[in-house]
Amino acid sequence: MRVKAAVLRQIGLPPPYAASKPLEIAELDLSSPGRGEVLVGIKAAGLCHSDLSVIDGSRPRPTPMALGHEAAGIVEAVGEGVTDLEAGDHVVLVFVPSCGRCGPCAAGRPALCEPGAKANGAGTLLSGERRLAFHAEPVNHHLGVSAFAEHAVVARESCVKIDPNLPLELAALFGCAVLTGVGAVVNTAKVEPGQSVAVVGLGGVGLSAVLGARLAGARQIVAVDLSDDKLAFAVKLGATDAVNAAAPDAADQIRRISGGGVDVAFDMAGAVAALELAYAATARGGTTVTAGLPRPDSRFSLAPVTMVAEERTLKGSYIGSAIPLRDVPRYVALFRAGRLPVDKLLTHRLKLDDINEGFDRLREGIGVRQVVVFE
Ligand code: ZN
Ligand code: ZN
Repeated sequence: MRVKAAVLRQIGLPPPYAASKPLEIAELDLSSPGRGEVLVGIKAAGLCHSDLSVIDGSRPRPTPMALGHEAAGIVEAVGEGVTDLEAGDHVVLVFVPSCGRCGPCAAGRPALCEPGAKANGAGTLLSGERRLAFHAEPVNHHLGVSAFAEHAVVARESCVKIDPNLPLELAALFGCAVLTGVGAVVNTAKVEPGQSVAVVGLGGVGLSAVLGARLAGARQIVAVDLSDDKLAFAVKLGATDAVNAAAPDAADQIRRISGGGVDVAFDMAGAVAALELAYAATARGGTTVTAGLPRPDSRFSLAPVTMVAEERTLKGSYIGSAIPLRDVPRYVALFRAGRLPVDKLLTHRLKLDDINEGFDRLREGIGVRQVVVFE
């Protein structure tokens, strides 16, 4: 079938993107789902910093690539061998397909699936195939999803079936922002009731971590960002304190208001300065979690003596250390119960044709989550 999709042909075009248009809205050919694959009618797809990182070259991927990895939609057809999904099912798409058989999958860590990571790096589906083409030239898939498109063919392993009563424009957020941000708190850091936390970087993932920290019962949640608007928004979501990261004494401020440093500090910004700030704000015996994705050539230096003498822990968190089949339904149920108000993160709805303008807003830090809505 023919589908309208947002395709990145050239990495690193200069902003503003409204003028340089790195994403071209093109008519692509989408093949039928192969064995173990599913055709999904995309209803909503969120704009995430990881898409921007491909556009600006800080996370290089093969081109041409159809972007978009945070999405929800409705199953329209299933390929051979798919027996547990059918047309009409509502699904959230997950940006790491997990094979279920490799070492990390067998250890209960599907976020680290080895064939999944290999396929994502190569721009293919889990099967190794590409189902998108432009005039017979193969087009790469973004993280097995490529959801800035009317339809997508994805691996069965990229889908989590959800409650059909959840509005799909909200459901999309559960695929990346919520899974990554809440998961960093509850899975990676395992924040306990009464602990103090700081969240550095208040995009969709960082603000999801603020919601997650409130859910986990943190007694103190220090929001940290360069934008006073984002700080005010975080306080509305339940942060107890706010510190502007531009202040030269930002780390000291966090240490002062938390009585010597927070138990857990999260770097959600993807910049080395943010990770350094998070580490400096962490208490003796505390844990620093990084879920941002800095450029691959970035380096972080620390004095190892602090890890020893202060029993400090530094942990990475990818896709919120998620088990998506377990976590997505959990978070959806918590949203329904009013305990995880992710609807507050959805600030803009846009049409596919206006996606470059949307990435300008994301780059400038305007709004939180923007979702492309398909009729
Ligand atoms: Zn994302
Ligand atoms: Zn695996």
